[in-house]
Amino acid sequence: WSSKKIRMFSAKTPCNVGDPVAEIETPTLVLCLDKLETNLGTLKEAMARYPGVAFRPHVKAHKCPVLGQLQMKSGACGVCCQTLTEAEAMVEGGLQDVFISNEVIGRKKLLRLAALARTAKVSVCVDSEGNIEDLSKAAGDLGVTLDLVIEVNVGQDRCGVEPGQDVARLAKKIQSLPQVNFKGIQCYNGWNQHIRKASERKAAVELVAEKGKKALQALKEGGFDCPYVTGGGTGTFHFEAGSGVFTEVQPGSYLMMDVDYNKNLDESEKFVSEFQQSLYIISTVQSVAPGDRAVLDTGLKGVSLDSGVPTISGAGDLIFHNGGDEHGIVRPSGDLKVGDQVWLVPGHCDPTVNMYQWIVGLRDGHVECVWPVSGRGPGV
Ligand code: PLP
Ligand code: MN
Repeated sequence: WSSKKIRMFSAKTPCNVGDPVAEIETPTLVLCLDKLETNLGTLKEAMARYPGVAFRPHVKAHKCPVLGQLQMKSGACGVCCQTLTEAEAMVEGGLQDVFISNEVIGRKKLLRLAALARTAKVSVCVDSEGNIEDLSKAAGDLGVTLDLVIEVNVGQDRCGVEPGQDVARLAKKIQSLPQVNFKGIQCYNGWNQHIRKASERKAAVELVAEKGKKALQALKEGGFDCPYVTGGGTGTFHFEAGSGVFTEVQPGSYLMMDVDYNKNLDESEKFVSEFQQSLYIISTVQSVAPGDRAVLDTGLKGVSLDSGVPTISGAGDLIFHNGGDEHGIVRPSGDLKVGDQVWLVPGHCDPTVNMYQWIVGLRDGHVECVWPVSGRGPGV
């Protein structure tokens, strides 16, 4: 990514390739590339322990096709997206195998989805007969075939049909229609990812796997083979991968991490994550009330607060407080002076990355790359 290519995107970048970190304009989202690369390798090595189970990283965490490409190079079988916008960004960025782990609704969106299948392998979740009919029609209109994955409610009580007869009913519906294939089932429970104790996360995934087995049994009784069961995230993928039920896992946050995930305990019940914190927001001190507070140029428009406040890297005794849209208040003020850069570890990586147009990659104190977050937004 040369500076010339970067300038093809209209949004102004916060720095140029080669700049020292001190010259980055803030607030800016940065990734430490050494740690990012370590995380890519750690997931690859972890998954080598589960032969026959593939990994399909979730790009909802970064929404950046360049990072999707790096994940493919580290052994991923494809990528997961949560929105059509993310899927379009990934295909435009050269990704060849994209699974939307979510339902896509409405004629116009389904035509956009079908259009992606002209250049990439596309699969998508379904949980209603009407949507399956609409997908078949859209795929037929564009002369493509779509792989459909039935979403099973395994405890999140969000989307998905209950494990049992409804799964077989939807498989039958898919089988009866042209231009759509029954690929398998998705069994994902997001709440389980952040259960702190590893033993309790494991027990929660055992319940998920039981529900998955129930869905598979119903499919078998309906005469359907189901060679594909996908699910799991950064907090639980070891358990899904080792369950004997799942054939694919979908961790996303592992690449960047956040305060919330760093609070999960490992199997010895210690705060030791197998993944490293690679994502930071660099902010600048814009005001100091000596002895009381320092004020950062980064508020809730620059770092998501839904999973708690960010921590301040290298200064555990300084606490970030919500100062509104564009301000963060740090108490105590420590040694901070106006103009200092402060590195924040976001509470939750996905919604934080979604606020930024650019991911700035750092190595050895300098900007090595600037990548567009081209799949960002609410997912129109
Ligand atoms: N799969 C699905 C369906 C998700 O919704 C998510 C995240 O919300 C993930 C995978 C990835 O989870 P994580 O980023 O916690 O690894
Ligand atoms: Mn998340």
